Amino acid sequence: MQRNKQFFLFIRSLKFRLILLILIIAVVPGLILSIGILYSYESRAVTIRESEILSQAKILANQIAASEYMSQENRMESGDIQAQINMLTTIYDGRVMLVDNYFKVIHDTYNLDDHKIIIAEEVMRSFRGEDVVHYDSENHYIEMTVPISNPDDRSGTIIGVMLVSVSTDNIEINQAYLRQVATIIVVVEIAVILFFGILLVLHFVKPLGRISEGIAAIKDGYGEDQLEVGSYTETIQICERFNEMLGRMKVMDDSRQEFVSNVSHELKTPLTSMKVLADSINSMPDAPKELYQEFMEDVTNEIERETKIVNDLLSLVKMDKSAADLNVSTVNMNELIEQILKRLQPIADKQQVELVLESFRPVSAEVDEVKLTLAITNLVENAIKYNKNDGEGWVHVSLNADHQYFYLKVEDSGIGIPEDSLDHIYERFYRVDKSHSREIGGTGLGLAITRNSILMHRGAIKVHSVIDEGTTFDVRIPLNYIM
Ligand code: ADP
Repeated sequence: MQRNKQFFLFIRSLKFRLILLILIIAVVPGLILSIGILYSYESRAVTIRESEILSQAKILANQIAASEYMSQENRMESGDIQAQINMLTTIYDGRVMLVDNYFKVIHDTYNLDDHKIIIAEEVMRSFRGEDVVHYDSENHYIEMTVPISNPDDRSGTIIGVMLVSVSTDNIEINQAYLRQVATIIVVVEIAVILFFGILLVLHFVKPLGRISEGIAAIKDGYGEDQLEVGSYTETIQICERFNEMLGRMKVMDDSRQEFVSNVSHELKTPLTSMKVLADSINSMPDAPKELYQEFMEDVTNEIERETKIVNDLLSLVKMDKSAADLNVSTVNMNELIEQILKRLQPIADKQQVELVLESFRPVSAEVDEVKLTLAITNLVENAIKYNKNDGEGWVHVSLNADHQYFYLKVEDSGIGIPEDSLDHIYERFYRVDKSHSREIGGTGLGLAITRNSILMHRGAIKVHSVIDEGTTFDVRIPLNYIM
């Protein structure tokens, strides 16, 4: 099983594929070259042999015609022609047949077909004056027929045909030898290319192995906390991306740890207060009832605070989920904001802050009513809470829309946010003035919830603030929910 897996891993590896590629690159040209050379050698050798024999045959045919060898009486005396014919057959390891104009074989150097009648197509064509050459590559011989023309006759009457067939075995033998040499060369070539190819491939893929080892070392917690394999542009880029990702994960991890320690701290503070209150009342066994009541009121306040922190944390966790968890419906935004302001009116009254809504047009949008209510409530509540309480404070909420988005503006005449805090106000538990925020019941989670809710709606939030003059939050949300 293990061995099988390793085999598949090897088959799928870049190493194996590169080696395979090199093998193909080494084998294919070698084969094409050797096959090409062998084939062209054969055709060239056969052509040369054909033209050589053809010219010899023609010379012989002319001599035969001149010697009147074709007529029965003269044949016996023409020892000269006989010798020529024998020489041709010996040199080229062949056979010569002479056919007269009755298609009868009058001479066969093999003495096999003497006196037989031959009416083969080639013979017919030669009687019409043609030289016919044919190469039989399967049986390794060249066959040709040449006309024998009467030298006395000007119109060139054909008095016979000479058939010559010669073996091409020696071409075959040469070819076999060449094939052997070519095979050896190809095998040596493949071996050399493969040897250097494998060395190169192993060298080239080494950095990939180093990347993998480096990542494993970082994962297991030993070695560097940065990945550096600088061999190629690609590996440098992979390392850079990996290090970026590692950095982001570290930031996430740090912020998670910070969040957990913040949560613990925030949850502990009311508990500590309660413990102090309980301890001090316990140490006073004779305390009057009024003191008990006062202490119990303080304890109740701390419990409320604890409850608020827990509730805000739960809201935040819900907002951290993906946008798919939105419960979208078409909501009349004018009505929704009116309701929110109505609910917050008592707090505004208490703070002596004037609360004004300005709706430029009716707006209905596809939103998650609960989550968006939470976001808007936090913004307006902050605008009231962090306002002046000299009776001059105001909060303006306005709602507008175009064909794509609706725009919500929450403007206040409050204490403002220092410039260096503007980048942090959406962080969980961040408060510009911790004690002030705590005094007015803040948890530092409100804006984090608001921002997450708006982002889940694919919206955007921007803040503009001037110390002691006021703060403006601009929110933009698509009218139609985008998945
Ligand atoms: P909190 O529960 O403390 O109000 P938030 O997340 O809602 O927490 O806000 C973070 C901090 O941003 C607040 O503590 C406050 O210092 C500042 N802040 C938010 N809104 C305003 C505002 N409208 N005017 C002035 N400061 C604000």
